[in-house]
Amino acid sequence: MSTGWTLKELIDAGMSVTGGCLDCHRHQKLDLAALRILFGADAPAMEWDLKPRMKCAVCGGKRITLTYSRDTRPKDLHRKKA
Ligand SMILES: [Zn+2]
Repeated sequence: MSTGWTLKELIDAGMSVTGGCLDCHRHQKLDLAALRILFGADAPAMEWDLKPRMKCAVCGGKRITLTYSRDTRPKDLHRKKA
């Protein structure tokens, strides 16, 4: 691992990123497609890249944690049948 993932790589890999607010404990899944439009497909998208740009939509808090996980929607199953 050198520089981490870009937004495009996260989307291509089917990853999802959830932001959690340490102040009000709300969780919100990030819209990676929208971030790609905002920051560009090749923008670095690791936690330390995104966190300074994140703000809680509910309380305005800036203490955000990011969780990276594989999207569990079974879209690959449909693709294999085609
Ligand atoms: Zn909050």
